[in-house]
Amino acid sequence: MDLWFTEEHTENVRFSIKVDKQICHLNSPYQRIDIFESPEFGRFLTLDGCIMVTENDEFMYHEMIVHVPMAVNPEIKNVLVIGAGDGGTVRELTRYDGIESIDMVEIDEEVVKVCKKYLPTIAGKLDDERVNIFYEDGLKFVRSKTNEYDLVIVDSTDPYGPGEGLFTKEFYGNCYKALKDDGILVNQHENPYYKIYSDTMIKTHKNIGSLFEIAKVYQFNLPTYPSGNWLFGFASKKYDPVLNLDADKWNSLDIKTRYYNTDIHKAAFALPNYVIDALDSSMRN
Ligand code: SAM
Repeated sequence: MDLWFTEEHTENVRFSIKVDKQICHLNSPYQRIDIFESPEFGRFLTLDGCIMVTENDEFMYHEMIVHVPMAVNPEIKNVLVIGAGDGGTVRELTRYDGIESIDMVEIDEEVVKVCKKYLPTIAGKLDDERVNIFYEDGLKFVRSKTNEYDLVIVDSTDPYGPGEGLFTKEFYGNCYKALKDDGILVNQHENPYYKIYSDTMIKTHKNIGSLFEIAKVYQFNLPTYPSGNWLFGFASKKYDPVLNLDADKWNSLDIKTRYYNTDIHKAAFALPNYVIDALDSSMRN
């Protein structure tokens, strides 16, 4: 008998992965947590039935969320990561010797425990000595921070359940305050194609664009996320992500990557017209 995991991407679209077995299932105080093993994507983590990471395609997501800001300012030293309990974002950050401290704020300790146990290639750097993990709501954590971080990365779930507050204007305003004068914010920005996601994309761009001097959006492929095309936001008080890309410096670091390179970096900010129009409309309304 075949076993399949199915996620509803919209009311009318479903995405299925053939699975060999279910490895873990539990309900934390915040969400349902499952890990499956599959022939095509290796092991994968789902929260409340939504795919968060798979062993085989996670490099696309984690390289693009980390190396884009790091190549704009390779001098980044103090980083705040919100969400990201699977550990992939922290793993990429620990590849930079120049980073001195990584505060990670994850609301759900069970996600971290499960990922350390079952997804060690992703979570394996959460014990790096520069990493401080806080099991708190990121929305509350950032309220008390002022002028502390060079980079804030919001690696959150979608805007439902515990992740809802991480898409609000109040939250992005507190991220602005938590950043130094040359700070960068990178955030999970949903997908532009399906309306339920693009409505959030538009609202998020409006919120961030009303706070930050520079607010751009960039795209990348991800086979297991709805539509296979995903966005991150890049916002800064000072840096333009393309004009201020320090390609020579980043390439001199000789960090081996499978998806990111400095040409992809520039190309990722070139958006299709329907996405540009939707983002522009957010700034007019
Ligand atoms: N790459 C994933 C994606 O885009 O769907 C996100 C990965 S990571 C597993 C997301 C994490 O954000 C989850 O572990 C979840 O517990 C955490 N999270 C959700 N809301 C949060 C909040 N308010 N504060 C801190 N962490 C939160």
